[in-house]
Amino acid sequence: MFGELSRRNIMALGASAGLGLGLGSISTSALAKAAKLRVQAPYWYRFNVGEAEITVVSDGWQMLGDPSNSFLGVPKDEVRKELTDNFMNPSDMNIELNSFVVNSNGKMVLFDTGLGASKMFGPKGGLLAKSLSDAGIKREDIDAVVISHGHIDHIGGIVDESGALMYPNAQVYMSQADFDYWTDERQMDSPWKKAFIIHARKNLLPVRDRLIFFKDEQEFLPGITAIAAPGHTLGHTMFNVQWSVVLLRRRRLASFRAADRESTDGISL
Ligand SMILES: [Zn+2]
Repeated sequence: MFGELSRRNIMALGASAGLGLGLGSISTSALAKAAKLRVQAPYWYRFNVGEAEITVVSDGWQMLGDPSNSFLGVPKDEVRKELTDNFMNPSDMNIELNSFVVNSNGKMVLFDTGLGASKMFGPKGGLLAKSLSDAGIKREDIDAVVISHGHIDHIGGIVDESGALMYPNAQVYMSQADFDYWTDERQMDSPWKKAFIIHARKNLLPVRDRLIFFKDEQEFLPGITAIAAPGHTLGHTMFNVQWSVVLLRRRRLASFRAADRESTDGISL
């Protein structure tokens, strides 16, 4: 019954709009005149947590191809179901690449820099500079670039194709273990690692003189603490971002003499 109704509706639509089987014979003047725009909504999202303004900025996406090359030791059916249940292509996997910009405690901090000029994961990455611009963030306003680990999709956008600094006023922070490993040419023992290390050297060596190595549990920027999370790489690191709410409380609670109570709140990235 549904099929009949659908067919009837479609035929009626076709008759009234000059579409359907007659499409090939209508003149192009019946089609829209304005040029097709071919752009989507800007690729960023902004929200506040306490005093911090956080902007999630897209670098595009990685095209990883056959997922069984990435999910080793997991039954193929399980991977297929997981991808299908999440509306992803089960045979050609794409992964979204997002960076965070946290504006808090008087600093604008970018966490990870995307793929940059590398096309190792297909042509759809390396959009971070455009996304930042779309989000109204000037690259020269970034005070600090914080690197979670030395893989190509995290350090790839520290410099542009010509080697010029993308964030000219930023101090760069990462773990020494990852810097040492991913800039070490002796580690180029497979084609993919060679590509990773060549790109890491291209991006990390130009900022060697402005690089600061953080340590586990060190608050290396106001309110930003490193939490060592080795495994994915030797020096892989998570970050806890905190901000003082004492000023806010002072204003709100002044008459209650609670002003001197220090308190912080935060999020983990
Ligand atoms: Zn990684």
